[in-house]
Amino acid sequence: MKDIRLDKYLADMGIGTRSEIKKYIKGKLVKVNGLPALKSDIKVRPGRDFIEYRNKSVEYIEYYYYLLNKPAGVVSAVRDNIHKTVIELIPDSINKKLFPVGRLDIDTEGLLLITNDGQLSHNLLAPGKHVDKTYYAKIDGLVNDSTVSAFLEGLDIGEKKNTLPAKLNIIKSGSISEVEITVCEGKYHQIKRMFEAVGMKVVYLKRISFGGIILDDNLALGQCRQLTEDEISILKGNNYVI
Ligand code: URA
Repeated sequence: MKDIRLDKYLADMGIGTRSEIKKYIKGKLVKVNGLPALKSDIKVRPGRDFIEYRNKSVEYIEYYYYLLNKPAGVVSAVRDNIHKTVIELIPDSINKKLFPVGRLDIDTEGLLLITNDGQLSHNLLAPGKHVDKTYYAKIDGLVNDSTVSAFLEGLDIGEKKNTLPAKLNIIKSGSISEVEITVCEGKYHQIKRMFEAVGMKVVYLKRISFGGIILDDNLALGQCRQLTEDEISILKGNNYVI
């Protein structure tokens, strides 16, 4: 990592505002490599320099990665005037510049990644990357083998091109059917529009995996946890093109 100002380092880690940090430095509460810092604008390098506040080490964390089990009724946005946002469900989200990786509809539940890593988010969402997303859905309509074939062939959902092949796995076929569906695109309301294209309606939708990350059964709706190192590596491996 490159050098950054000491006050930015501490502000990014939630120690205080830049003016509060100036006061802490004046009060000799901040040390750099064992010695009290004299000025707030000195440059330090995360990972190389040892920073302490009130004699406690402050490690610099550049990127955050959370897995949220999104409940219905919450919007996939950073700010919203009406509804609660997914960012408000992340503890200590202030100053982390977090955003959701893509969107789930307000009534969709399940796996949503939250990060401040713009490059990774781009790699996962860019249309050419074709990252797999799997959903569990309840459908008002009889899903059968011909539905499976239609989804595999691609559907006209009113876009320039038909949808790319989607894998439909029937869990229950009946007047209300249950399916798992895997798509590698992320068009607006894609799953709902695909079922509409075959005359059916999605009545419940939950994302269960994204880019190789699987929804954690231990997370209740509205709960989140940080991704493990292994999960971050899996996500970063999603860089294949077409
Ligand atoms: N497809 C939808 O229709 N809605 C979602 O929230 C996600 C995929």
